[in-house]
Amino acid sequence: MIESILSKDELTREDLVMLLQADAEQRNIIYKKAAQVKEQYVGRKVYFRGLIEMSNVCSKNCFYCGIRSGNTSPKRYSLTDDEIVDVAKFAWENKYGSLAIQTGEVDTKEFVLRVERLLDKIHRATNSELGITLSMGEQTEETYRRWFEHGASRYLLRIETSNRNLYYKLHPNDKHHSFEQRIECLHSLRRAGYQVGTGVMIGLPFQTIGDLADDLMWLRNMDIDMVGMGPYVEHPDTPLWQYRNQLLPLEERFNLGIKMIALLRIIMKDINIAAPTALQAIDPLGREKGIKVGANVVMPNITPGTYRNDYKLYDNKPCMDDAADDCKNCLEARIHLTGDEVGYGEQGNSMHYRKRQMPNV
Ligand code: SAM
Ligand code: SF4
Repeated sequence: MIESILSKDELTREDLVMLLQADAEQRNIIYKKAAQVKEQYVGRKVYFRGLIEMSNVCSKNCFYCGIRSGNTSPKRYSLTDDEIVDVAKFAWENKYGSLAIQTGEVDTKEFVLRVERLLDKIHRATNSELGITLSMGEQTEETYRRWFEHGASRYLLRIETSNRNLYYKLHPNDKHHSFEQRIECLHSLRRAGYQVGTGVMIGLPFQTIGDLADDLMWLRNMDIDMVGMGPYVEHPDTPLWQYRNQLLPLEERFNLGIKMIALLRIIMKDINIAAPTALQAIDPLGREKGIKVGANVVMPNITPGTYRNDYKLYDNKPCMDDAADDCKNCLEARIHLTGDEVGYGEQGNSMHYRKRQMPNV
């Protein structure tokens, strides 16, 4: 049964619902297929994106996130340009290939200009050899274009859920948290020339298996270039904490997360898929398990250690105390254990994006 579904050229929503409900034995068949697809379409290389958590200052108030503006617990910080350039150089010298710079959402003129200057500084310090992913929330198309012109080539903006009703259970219902605007931003990013990344959280309160199947269909319909998606992990200082007793157990959220990665690899064969840190927050081998079933990107955290405690999106965030190079060494050994190799010194751009740019190649 599972085999015949998996042999289809295109999976339907009903197929995906069925596969998401697969039991332990059937799961292994899905994982095997996903591993084959990965090997055939993107190869067995895993690319590093050195993750810099630039600032936890955020103007938004998402109900799930530990650094939401309404939470007064974290000490708010912003890394200086020098601190960022230093860790960018670390990534470059260690042949990481790419950086991912993530922040809370700020859209002031000063911030937009600061990011432009910062991109210039990073490129100067690293011989323009690093691919740069930004994850800085919703901005105007003009801002996205300017950052692209200053050398950012990828942008990650998760839709969080493709179900509009669920979206509004996770966010305040106001003009700063508009579902339509978030989708419009993804279109703006595409028009500006980026490799466009998005993703969802898995195991949210009120979320159904049907919602997750819809998320997979939505990612395919949006023809997205890269995806970062992982389990929702609750945080005590957030409004969604009140629903913690309605959540699936962490282990089930983890298994669903792994299944979502495998199914996404099967339906979107040549995109980049990240093994998110939230997987490792639940299972110490979480990211490796994600790599085995289709992920081909990992994001070792290179934020200076003193700030990491204040960028807590959820409970149990891993590598809180590790120096950046400990993370690199432990990750490399772990990736080798999966049978994959690290694409050192390679940017590892999305094959899907490349094919869209040059359809005849
Ligand atoms: N502020 C930007 C944005 O929201 O797009 C980028 C940074 S934001 C912290 C990055 C991602 O963290 C969000 O898109 C969300 O999916 C994830 N996140 C936040 N809280 C989480 C939680 N409790 N569990 C799992 N992921 C979470
Ligand atoms: Fe801010 Fe992003 Fe967290 Fe929402 S998810 S509160 S935009 S940092």
